[in-house]
Amino acid sequence: MNVDLHCHSTVSDGVLAPDQVAYRAHQNGVELWALTDHDEVGGLALAEQTALNLGMGFVPGVEVSVTFLGKTVHILGLGVDYTSSQLVDSLRYVRAGRWQRAERISDALAGMGIPNALEGAVPYASNPELVSRTHFARFLVEQGYCSTLQDVFNKYLGDDAPAYVPMQWAALDEAIQWIQQAGGVAVIAHPGRYEFDTLQFDLLFDRFKELGGVGIEVVTGSHAPHQYNEYARVAKRYGFEASMGSDFHGPEEGRLDLGQLPALPSDLTPIWKRWLS
Ligand code: AMP
Ligand code: MN
Ligand code: MN
Ligand code: MN
Repeated sequence: MNVDLHCHSTVSDGVLAPDQVAYRAHQNGVELWALTDHDEVGGLALAEQTALNLGMGFVPGVEVSVTFLGKTVHILGLGVDYTSSQLVDSLRYVRAGRWQRAERISDALAGMGIPNALEGAVPYASNPELVSRTHFARFLVEQGYCSTLQDVFNKYLGDDAPAYVPMQWAALDEAIQWIQQAGGVAVIAHPGRYEFDTLQFDLLFDRFKELGGVGIEVVTGSHAPHQYNEYARVAKRYGFEASMGSDFHGPEEGRLDLGQLPALPSDLTPIWKRWLS
């Protein structure tokens, strides 16, 4: 089955509107699809309606920004009731502070010889409550400061780069609780991206499990292929269900397009069994 349970629209830092992402997923052969915008469920009604019209299976999702051991971790909520006012209100609280952070990123870039970056990034952000580093990165590429988004993150905006501005996102327990109270299941997104040591990873996985987290992304466009097996082993060791998703942001970006994912390594429990009936 062609499953893609992680991607973004213009509601956060994707370049296509929610219905356009649905069309592209369907065109690429996706049979079960989740839209998972960062800290925002505002695209899910349109996404769901479009998927329904196309006869494509749909799982409403969200990718919540969390701070764990001082670093940013992304937790996917899959199967959430996006009309839950508790979820909507909690996500608004996670988004608060993004604007101030964007101003500080802009100041830091100005100090590095890149003026007016906020003015440049804002037109890329359809949702003014959700100015993301990705929007800055697109502006910097467009202006010729860097040739790829990856370069921007290496040189300016990545977690160890000079124009990085730390944020305090949600706590892990809060994020999992919001997801659960909205009827969803929590999934650790792209664990291979986090720069934790072994002990810190164990803490993350133990704590996540203790709090009722159920899934981990194994196959994702944010993992290099050798990491599929690495996180397949983690899934088995912890008894996590396995998820997969492209983490698609736009046609010209990222490693994998919608619906272009290799199969999960064998012996794993696919999380999407929950939505097949
Ligand atoms: P923010 O939530 O504003 O901190 O932005 C995080 C977003 O930046 C992620 O969701 C990715 O879309 C993007 N991102 C983070 N690191 C990288 C990277 N190394 N290369 C390309 N995009 C990245
Ligand atoms: Mn993103
Ligand atoms: Mn992410
Ligand atoms: Mn993502």
